[in-house]
Amino acid sequence: MISLHTSPLDQPGTGDAGGMNVYVTEVAQRLAQRGIEVDIFTRATNSQLPALVPLSPGVNVRHIVSGPFEGLAKDELPGQLCVFAREVLRTEAQFDVGHYDVVHSHYWLSGQVGALARDRWGVPLVHSMHTMAKVKNDLLAEGDTPEPHARVIGEEQVVAAADMLIANTVDEAKDLINAYDADPGRVEVVHPGVDLHAFRPTSQAAARARLGLRQDAEVLLFVGRIQPLKAPDVLLRAAAELLRTDPALRDRLVVAVVGGPSGSGLEHPTALADLAGSLGIDDVVRFVPPVRRDELVDWYAAATLVCVPSYNESFGLVAVEAQAVGTPVVAAAVGGLTTAVADGRSGFLVDGHDPADYARVFASIIEAPQLRAALSVGAVAQAADFSWDRTADATLAVYRRAVALMASETVR
Ligand code: UDP
Repeated sequence: MISLHTSPLDQPGTGDAGGMNVYVTEVAQRLAQRGIEVDIFTRATNSQLPALVPLSPGVNVRHIVSGPFEGLAKDELPGQLCVFAREVLRTEAQFDVGHYDVVHSHYWLSGQVGALARDRWGVPLVHSMHTMAKVKNDLLAEGDTPEPHARVIGEEQVVAAADMLIANTVDEAKDLINAYDADPGRVEVVHPGVDLHAFRPTSQAAARARLGLRQDAEVLLFVGRIQPLKAPDVLLRAAAELLRTDPALRDRLVVAVVGGPSGSGLEHPTALADLAGSLGIDDVVRFVPPVRRDELVDWYAAATLVCVPSYNESFGLVAVEAQAVGTPVVAAAVGGLTTAVADGRSGFLVDGHDPADYARVFASIIEAPQLRAALSVGAVAQAADFSWDRTADATLAVYRRAVALMASETVR
């Protein structure tokens, strides 16, 4: 696997580390459980990192030195593609011929390197886009910077070079075909998953006690990288609206934002705290730096609901994780969230980003504990449709198809 711009060893929920890191780690580990050895190439971002770090049995992270360790933004990485690719090829050259059977690249930068490795090693390239510039630019948050045209061209080149493309959802597959001219016969839909052992129904009371939250609280939770695309401001504005219509809630309301700044959010790291101040709700908003999985389970379990108001989301692992814990999700009806959330059964999908609409949905759940209880049951059932084991099985089937496709083309 190639995950150039972000390492599976990084803590997700801040900077460039998010769902893709979780995806790469979870799928690699499950492939290893199925007897597939996985090397993950990523860029070294720290001079202390060893060249090879075993992640788990059968999975190694290989750090490639290319460019300065720290301080290189994602948009500067195209300038490092050549040296990164050269070092990947050098690493492989130390092994016996035929060391790798498949290259699976994640995000377009890795795809550029993967396309080169594919031709050099004579093995198929399987590529996962994770996000696409054309889709992202169509759904920009206000004031967010569009992705550059060079990325669009880079993505088109990767789509053309890949033997197989993995799409998170049917919609993503359509975008690949319609916006990127992908051959429909080479696109396979594989849903991401959730670790149903780690994220399992958990007592709300116990979680609240562990987090020091009062038992009668109403907790509105946002989890993820803080940037305009994820629209955490919509949650804050909706919470302010909720308090305007129901001031008695003030003592019990907690708006928790778990995660750290990322992307264009890094340019204004205090923007959300400033917004809470200007909305007059800084007494109810709590900012929590990125947390590890066991604490995240507690946050999900403690929440009345999890809000995912993103402008775009290629899937939305947070929505599935929250539901697996038994917490309803109120999400924007965009991208993968329409697959991840069953509207009216495991939560609600909201059209658009008007805070008043979100506030109304919050109120309907808060005012009707029996509705929340029913959604909670629906949430667990909805999440049960997704699992990393299934993702890994389907990914392996795509690898086999890619190998067969390449073999048939070689014979021709
Ligand atoms: N995450 C985490 N700790 C945090 C915040 C987020 O481990 O404090 C993880 C979360 O569990 C999820 C991922 O980061 O698996 C975010 O994935 P998602 O698909 O929701 O968003 P993305 O980052 O891909 O945009």
